Amino acid sequence: MTTGENSIAGEWQAAGGDFFHSVDPRTRQTGETRFYSATAQEIDAAVRAAADAFSSTRLFPATTLADFLDTSAEEIEASADALIATADAETALGSVRLNGELARTTGQLRAFSALLREGSHVEAVIDSALPDRTPLPRPDIRRMLLPLGPVAVFSASNFPFAFATAGGDSAAAFAAGCPVIVKGHPGHPATSELFAHAINAAVSACGFPPGYFSLLQGDGHDVGRILVEHPFLEAVGFTGSLRGGRALHDVAAQRPRPIPVFAEMGSINPVVITAGALAERGDEIVQGLAASATLGVGQFCTNPGLVLLPAGEAASAFIAASRDAMLASESGILLNASVESGLAQGVARSAALDNVQTHVHEDATQAEGFSYPHTVMQTDAATFVENADLQEEHFGPVTLFVTWKGDEELDRVLRSLSGQLTGSIHCGNEEAESLRPLLDALREKVGRLVWNGYPTGVEVTAAMQHGGPWPASNAAGTTSVGTNAIRRFMRPVAWQDLPDELLPEALQNSNPLGIVRLVNGELTREPLS
Ligand code: NAP
Repeated sequence: MTTGENSIAGEWQAAGGDFFHSVDPRTRQTGETRFYSATAQEIDAAVRAAADAFSSTRLFPATTLADFLDTSAEEIEASADALIATADAETALGSVRLNGELARTTGQLRAFSALLREGSHVEAVIDSALPDRTPLPRPDIRRMLLPLGPVAVFSASNFPFAFATAGGDSAAAFAAGCPVIVKGHPGHPATSELFAHAINAAVSACGFPPGYFSLLQGDGHDVGRILVEHPFLEAVGFTGSLRGGRALHDVAAQRPRPIPVFAEMGSINPVVITAGALAERGDEIVQGLAASATLGVGQFCTNPGLVLLPAGEAASAFIAASRDAMLASESGILLNASVESGLAQGVARSAALDNVQTHVHEDATQAEGFSYPHTVMQTDAATFVENADLQEEHFGPVTLFVTWKGDEELDRVLRSLSGQLTGSIHCGNEEAESLRPLLDALREKVGRLVWNGYPTGVEVTAAMQHGGPWPASNAAGTTSVGTNAIRRFMRPVAWQDLPDELLPEALQNSNPLGIVRLVNGELTREPLS
């Protein structure tokens, strides 16, 4: 039974009069539950409770935080059936996808737990004193990372589990020792409420202060704005649209005391297909690309929205075959009304440009639910370079093919690209060496390079980079996926010449935690003599 209330430090409340409903994307029908947007007082109470909680959790040993992450994963698994049924009713993503996403979500929590138990996340560095150095002696300097404090997390619509209440941003902040205040996405409020029960259960089972987690519901931008303006907040994790990320980045920057916002936003994920790849594997790539572009009705931030090919007969045949393959796949249900209307407006803008051909799924009939017909657009390199609008992300089943003539034109296209989460290259067997300049040019624009593959899937590993230059993200030096995501919610502190017993355990001579440290330039677990 969902109540529609907000969870403020473990207490369920609905003090305000503004409410909204879940919408079933398959029928456009609104549900019965009233979800109450958090009031300014509730937001204030959540952040104050988080700040109180931080005064103790900032000192918790890593193993205590790891136990909490493991318990959260178990609590989520215990509610798996209800979570999947509820999220499916709110997002129409289907049980197969949601089962996978649930496993990814609990896997993320456990990956951070394993990192904490291993201990290298604090990045302990020790540079011993050099008392005999001339002309001046060098002091003893030791550095490690500490948690930032209360973090606001904004859920995305298209990942109701993995980028939501207990998703990657929350897991990373919890792992750092930071209390989390989630601004739930209005597209899946009942799912958010169920997750809040699971996290609250973990908070109490582990004896954590209740302010370690709060869920604020809201539809409209006020809840998010007031939350980010709160003076006790220390950082923001955001996954969503460029417009939303930019707005929150600006709110945070205008505070009397600005705080960091880590926003992962949209991307069109260019895929370059060379002449060799077209000749050797054209048919195979048609199928792989169509599967990647239509997966999840194209509603992935890693959807390959831009395909670049050398102009000619092979490219024309490839585009025609891709169009057939993409337009043949059944139109799926979109997440919500704003994805549907955003697609219609964005595609209309691109399609109205001179020299852009647009093909829409011919059999598209008006579905009962939120939908948009598969759409394939095509243009040439000069048109693409001249029209920045063609770099706008169409969040759905829309793919733009761009043909180039000669390496120089391809180089111009790559230079004109804005920042991307990913860039992919498909090449022929003998081409790899000759593609170094292309790889170098693409590398400057992306967070992840994919070789002879497709960008859609994002593995949760220590090496993963999910981010990129603006506007893929506003903090290209960070990732929102993988265990390195914890780095966003920690800050380095250096200790100079402190007595050993006053140092954090991670930096003490005897290395009581047994962690890997960089000691005088060497990675080691050995104690200092
Ligand atoms: P969205 O519209 O930006 O909403 C995300 C969250 O931000 C919601 O809680 C929304 O709540 C809030 N918000 C949006 N604009 C705001 C503003 N001006 N002020 C305060 N809060 C604001 O994103 P979405 O609905 O999830 O749309 C999907 C988009 O996310 C796509 O563009 C997709 O590419 C991107 N995405 C990116 C990634 C990635 O890793 N880079 C992953 C998934 C999705 P309110 O509406 O209640 O304000």
